Amino acid sequence: MSRFMFIPKRVYFEPEALKYPLGQKLHSYFSSQNIPILQTTSHNRVTGIPGSTPAEGYREAKDTLVVGVRKSKDFQTCKPSAHYQLPIATSCPGKCEYCYLQTTLGKKPYLRVYVNLDDILKQAERYIEERKPDITMFEGSATSDPIPVEPYTHSMAKTIEFFGRQEYARISFVSKFTNIDSLLDLEHNKHTHMRFSINLPDFIRKYEHSTPSLEERLQATREIVEAGYPSGLMIAPIFLETGWQEDYGSLLRTIKETVPVPDGFTFELITHRFTARAKKNILDIYPGTELPMEESTRRFKFGQFGYGKYLYPKEVTDEAKNFFEKEISDLFPKAKIKYFV
Ligand code: SF4
Repeated sequence: MSRFMFIPKRVYFEPEALKYPLGQKLHSYFSSQNIPILQTTSHNRVTGIPGSTPAEGYREAKDTLVVGVRKSKDFQTCKPSAHYQLPIATSCPGKCEYCYLQTTLGKKPYLRVYVNLDDILKQAERYIEERKPDITMFEGSATSDPIPVEPYTHSMAKTIEFFGRQEYARISFVSKFTNIDSLLDLEHNKHTHMRFSINLPDFIRKYEHSTPSLEERLQATREIVEAGYPSGLMIAPIFLETGWQEDYGSLLRTIKETVPVPDGFTFELITHRFTARAKKNILDIYPGTELPMEESTRRFKFGQFGYGKYLYPKEVTDEAKNFFEKEISDLFPKAKIKYFV
């Protein structure tokens, strides 16, 4: 199956990145493809990405790759799903209107890859050692979708093999992308949990610009299951608008027809929510968005960091929770729902 392939319009390098074999390899590869190469003193402060409006700046940033050295030794914590984030990349070329990174990556969410993966994995080893004999859980996609850059860096493949050798650690990734061919034959030892994020085909077409189709994602899920990875699907964000029962029921039946769901396969279910800040950012980038974000139809919940969220009303989410629990246990008796929020 042909795969969606991310091809950057321009690639920035930190001078120090060129001291590493991966930095050199990427430099010579992108030069040979006649992709403009630029320099940046820091991967955290890249200037010169074109775009005079927020929408243009956003789109140009999503076509920009920055190759750098990750200096910070500490990993961010990642509660409640894992102990730590594992930073192998930042951002992604997808342009989902409701991207969860919209509020954290600023106006120009350019893609970053790090050439010093060995240092990053050494740091992971230190954390694992500290918590031994408890298992340490890492999340590999807290700040990125790491798969689209994988054909260039092979960082995820190395990470999966690294975790395959760890007795006291596990890692989890979630993706909407399907460049997984190089991951299928790895010695993962079932220590990597791979999930694909999906939604109704209409929403993918309407809101998840520059990402693979539902069909491609389900095909990739099937391949990951067949490769023996612990695996799952995240359905997010779930829109509880008129007709949702029929639409999500049909999505679950499509999954049933495509994916041979094994024991322990996970479902993660996230209903749509937004903050005032996210809504403003979305309207800056997509002034004509059709995303349902009408505050008067939602319930407001104060958040931990002062940002309140607009959720669907409780009776609607309760009904949805019952619906998904029943449908999933009928259709996929071997699967488990990790959470519904
Ligand atoms: S694929 Fe994921 S990380 Fe990329 S834009 Fe969409 S939601 Fe954001």
